[in-house]
Amino acid sequence: MSKWPIGVFASIDAGLGVRLEVARELGVSTVHLHTPHRQSRTRERAAEFLQRLKDLGIAVTVVFAGFEGESYADIPTVTRTVGLAPPSTREARTAELKEIADFARQLGVQAVGLHLGFVPHDRTSADYEDVLRITRDVCDYLQRNGQALHLETGQEPADVLLGFLQDVGRDNLFINFDPANMILYGCGEPIPALRTLGKYVRSVHCKDATWSDQPGKTWGAETPLGQGDVDFAAYLRTLAEIGYEGPLTIEREIPQEPQRQKAEIAAAVEVLESLKRLEHNLA
Ligand code: MG
Repeated sequence: MSKWPIGVFASIDAGLGVRLEVARELGVSTVHLHTPHRQSRTRERAAEFLQRLKDLGIAVTVVFAGFEGESYADIPTVTRTVGLAPPSTREARTAELKEIADFARQLGVQAVGLHLGFVPHDRTSADYEDVLRITRDVCDYLQRNGQALHLETGQEPADVLLGFLQDVGRDNLFINFDPANMILYGCGEPIPALRTLGKYVRSVHCKDATWSDQPGKTWGAETPLGQGDVDFAAYLRTLAEIGYEGPLTIEREIPQEPQRQKAEIAAAVEVLESLKRLEHNLA
């Protein structure tokens, strides 16, 4: 794979992102796949799906976990509903994550992405210990599958996330860096955060957003790429500095407006291609 192939966040029958046909029409050759419904995660469907990917000329580089009942409506709802962090669904979702990992393995995908949810802030609490325990359990399961776990950024400042990675202490635990999430959740400037987490970054999202007037309390707003507060020239320069050469995966979550979504992703491809050329000429 050449340096920085363009990617897009996609789904087949469930979850966020564009349909695969849209990726194909946009000439995008890699995707992060939001996990399909449980009933689709069978060996037969995996085989069918692999054939479809082959026909479309698309490679899945990360399978992103998603769970029933998750909602990104606002920050308090994310705290209550997203990822492995909410205690009431923790065990069931940990078990389901292993099923998702097995499905990813059937697709030949070596990375599973995850919004862990808000990590408990008190590092001495029993709840923090329990989140460490399940994260280690998941990492060890993935290790046996020959896979890595990529935690999505945004719900913690970079130094808190770094402390968590070190506390988990597993060498197949990495980061999916999303610069817009840092802004949306009010968790810090994305470029310094990328430097802090640099050696752990194994996949990235290219998403843009503007800051909230009450960072950390209310959402900022997601925008088309290039129209928000992420400096994408600096983003690519910093990715080059940290030695990241993997896909640049565009994420634009306006599934209710598929035409606009497709047009904005097409524009994002143009922005990234021209920044890639610039970066290539500087290098
Ligand atoms: Mg993302």
